[in-house]
Amino acid sequence: MGTRADIRSFTGHELKEYLIMKGHRPYRGEQVFRWLWTPYVHSFDAMSNLPKHLREELKQGFHLKCLEPIKVQVSKDGTRKIASRLEDNALIETVIIPEEGHRTVCVSTQVGCAMGCRFCRTARMGFIRDLTPSEIVLQVLMAIEELGGKRQAIRNIVFMGMGEPLMNYENLSKALHILQDTSGMDFSKRRITVSTCGIIPGIERLGQEHQVGLAISLHAPSSEKRSMLMPVNRQFDLRDLIGVLRRYPLAKRRRITIEYLVIRGVNDSPQDALELSRILQGIRVKVNLIPFNEVEGIPFKAPGQEAIESFCKILAEKGYTVTVRKSKGADIDAACGQLYAKIKDNESPRG
Ligand code: SAH
Repeated sequence: MGTRADIRSFTGHELKEYLIMKGHRPYRGEQVFRWLWTPYVHSFDAMSNLPKHLREELKQGFHLKCLEPIKVQVSKDGTRKIASRLEDNALIETVIIPEEGHRTVCVSTQVGCAMGCRFCRTARMGFIRDLTPSEIVLQVLMAIEELGGKRQAIRNIVFMGMGEPLMNYENLSKALHILQDTSGMDFSKRRITVSTCGIIPGIERLGQEHQVGLAISLHAPSSEKRSMLMPVNRQFDLRDLIGVLRRYPLAKRRRITIEYLVIRGVNDSPQDALELSRILQGIRVKVNLIPFNEVEGIPFKAPGQEAIESFCKILAEKGYTVTVRKSKGADIDAACGQLYAKIKDNESPRG
């Protein structure tokens, strides 16, 4: 079993090439790919319009990976957090966020995370492993199934769950191709956003190879402060990061999202806001302020409402588009930075 290839990690192009190489008609690749990303189809036998011999061949050669949702929690505001178990028993979390008239799914790219940001709960799990392309994309399929099986139930995909997407670049890149394939779930690049803590080589590659949206977890206006909050800044310094953003090949009418976590007494002063406005000058950005979500065992505090408001006002006066992120799903630990996949023994799986 272990050696059979994971067919759901194939891009449409790879599958087509493979089946042609095996002597199948050129249209078969697309036909199989379509089935792979059809909600509720989780066996080769369910691919009813494929000839029997092809189904048998696929069964022999491939493994059809599935995610096992073991627990779904629904927040008062409608946010749903899905914990899934992977084949090696690792756990990941996926969040469905209701927004006005549509929904966004927030997917994980790694089990745990190696980046060690001081304020983040996932960081405390440490790094366990990368997710495969299939495990990344299956989270979206699972979200669609959780909402009744209609692709249209989901409008946006954000790579803001557990892990650092650009530390798992190859698998992320395949997942992006699979998600955008018009024979599959057909998400447009405008509906996909990859968020990173600032892995410079990954940002450059993403800009060259994919035109999806880019979000940067910036969180501090100076190198010193940033290194204190995010160890990654010692490897990829804020000044270099800003330089890369300046040169980033942005599509027309697109902007880079700057995520700025606001932490009481740490980075929430008017001085911080002014400094931020200065370093971002001339870059096409929109700023998203994220009030810090307090997490047990992490010694930071949520900012006051006044601090957020004046921070926001300063940036707006400097001409920036600023939004303040509404925290959703906090009552089920599904809010930003709260993902920490650990099912306690006394929590019974979903019935
Ligand atoms: N590694 C990627 C993807 C994770 S996104 C990245 O860093 O962008 C998760 C977002 O939630 C990041 O912007 C992160 O900085 C933020 N976050 C982490 N801990 C948080 C907390 N306690 N409260 C609010 N936001 C937090």
